Amino acid sequence: MRSYQIVEWDKPLELKEQLTPKPSGAEVLLKVDACGVCHSDLHIRSGYFEMGQGERTYLAKMGAKLPMTLGHEVVGEVVELGPKAGEIEVGDKRIAFPWIGCGHCQTCKNGDENQCSSPKFLGTRVDGGYSDYLLVPNAKYLFEYGDTPTDLAATFACAGITAYGALKKCGPLDADDHVLIIGAGGVGLTALHIARALTKAKLIVADVNEDKRNAAATGGATATIDSSEKDAVKQILEASSGGVAAAIDCVGMPTTSRLGIDTLRKTGIHVIVGLYGGAMTIPMVLFPFKQMTIRGSYVGTLSEMDELMELVRDGKVPPIPLTPRPLHEANQVLDELSRGEIIGRVVLKP
Ligand SMILES: [Zn+2]
Ligand SMILES: [Zn+2]
Repeated sequence: MRSYQIVEWDKPLELKEQLTPKPSGAEVLLKVDACGVCHSDLHIRSGYFEMGQGERTYLAKMGAKLPMTLGHEVVGEVVELGPKAGEIEVGDKRIAFPWIGCGHCQTCKNGDENQCSSPKFLGTRVDGGYSDYLLVPNAKYLFEYGDTPTDLAATFACAGITAYGALKKCGPLDADDHVLIIGAGGVGLTALHIARALTKAKLIVADVNEDKRNAAATGGATATIDSSEKDAVKQILEASSGGVAAAIDCVGMPTTSRLGIDTLRKTGIHVIVGLYGGAMTIPMVLFPFKQMTIRGSYVGTLSEMDELMELVRDGKVPPIPLTPRPLHEANQVLDELSRGEIIGRVVLKP
């Protein structure tokens, strides 16, 4: 098989040709149809996350080992089964849930594999889908996607479940409430679309990029705000009649999170999912004054994936803009993504 791997941190991916793995035990081999290119792939390729004040946290210290095939938004066709694979058949088309834990700890036993501290996440800890084949450890991580177009289906494994997991942490929302989505990239646009299926709340999207704001307006945003403008906070407060019930920061920079926190109404919830990095200072009195909650969210659980895919199969989540590109352009696409040039999602096709 042909895979694009991180061989050295912070260097371009390298094409590696190796024997296609044979599934054993409960494993399932997928022939990859498409693999989404996620913003976090940039961080994984570089091998670190920015912690602010010049500090970094390194993936190598978190247990990641090289070489490793990148890619965690995979959709493909089942081509071979291990002897204990269970109820799945060759020819089945499936999305792979990549947020797989060790399987042994109490967190994994509770079903919260995305929270496992010894993760086996596909494409961030073990080989992923920038490849023509992907080995999945168990059929329970594979989801049907019905009539959803294959390329779009891929995006639900990360952009979709990340957005869904964040929206579920926004608390109960009613039709008069406003939710602010910060960053209209793949996750932000997906959050907008899933939010429309989950809630009647009004949805405000903030981004610095005009094309991304236009994509959000087309996708059903009640208002779009240029977050680079000096009075962005005032504009959001006006658009939300005094403050948003919840904000989701899909970027994860100090400035983007500050925008969310400054526009929360009292008792508002600010959810950070973006991994851009950095560190921020928050005035302590804001916590009691606003009675606010700031929390993080990382992808979602297997059962949340099940709930999300039910919405997807029912046709309740409209597509985000998608651009298919050949797998061999993986490095080029990552570079374009790092320059903020990509609208929606690029999916790599082997
Ligand atoms: Zn991702
Ligand atoms: Zn575990």
